[in-house]
Amino acid sequence: MTAGATARAAELAERLAAVTARIEAACAAAGRAPGEVRLLPVTKFHPATDIAILYDLGCRAFGESREQEATAKVTELTPGLSEPVAWHMIGRLQRNKAKAVARWAHTVQSVDSERLAAALDAAARSALDAGERSAPLRVLLQVSLDTDPGRGGVAPADLPALADRIAAAPALELAGLMAIPPLDAEPDSAFARLETLHTRLRGTHPGASELSAGMSGDLESAVAHGSTCVRVGTALLGTRPITSG
Ligand SMILES: *Cc1c(COP(=O)(O)O)cnc(C)c1O
Repeated sequence: MTAGATARAAELAERLAAVTARIEAACAAAGRAPGEVRLLPVTKFHPATDIAILYDLGCRAFGESREQEATAKVTELTPGLSEPVAWHMIGRLQRNKAKAVARWAHTVQSVDSERLAAALDAAARSALDAGERSAPLRVLLQVSLDTDPGRGGVAPADLPALADRIAAAPALELAGLMAIPPLDAEPDSAFARLETLHTRLRGTHPGASELSAGMSGDLESAVAHGSTCVRVGTALLGTRPITSG
């Protein structure tokens, strides 16, 4: 390794330990077992070399938000990984990208419309038939906690119908909910609403046990409100490099 690569590996090891300690402390404060909350490192905009370092440190799941960038990284890294990695698509997804994503995604966390769900179901079916994947595509419904439709997410009122649609799709597995709290509100009240929606959803779909909530700045609040997956980018990898896209 170059000196730069060695320094980056040391930096990421330290940051990973700090984020893991935060999650453990948040679980302890909420009276939850530490194993109930998993860390999803969010590696968007960061190079594949950072993912390789985190893999060597024991991470086996990663979140990416842009199809092209993710497809390139998965293609580059997969031949060198001896153990399976669960790649999560967490960003807004256009239907015409469903085919590419269904080839590598373990989970898509950002499903917010019946049209996208139908496209992913068809794409996952093709990928299963072609032997490109071996299990149904796990899907989290992204729910909107604000009134700005630009940020993505299904309105809470439309959530039950979309959940039923996904549960009935043969190549999809309804795994739970995901949300990003509104920019202008207290994360605590947003996560409390999310927790209520999740409890309701599990009443009709008991298998939808995953709750993806919490990022670098608000993971403690999310863990207090039932998160099972915290998506952490900045606290783990540092500020994202500026890009044009
Ligand atoms: C980028 C991103 C994150 C990570 O945010 P940080 O504040 O950097 O931890 C989490 N979730 C989604 C959907 C993202 O796009």
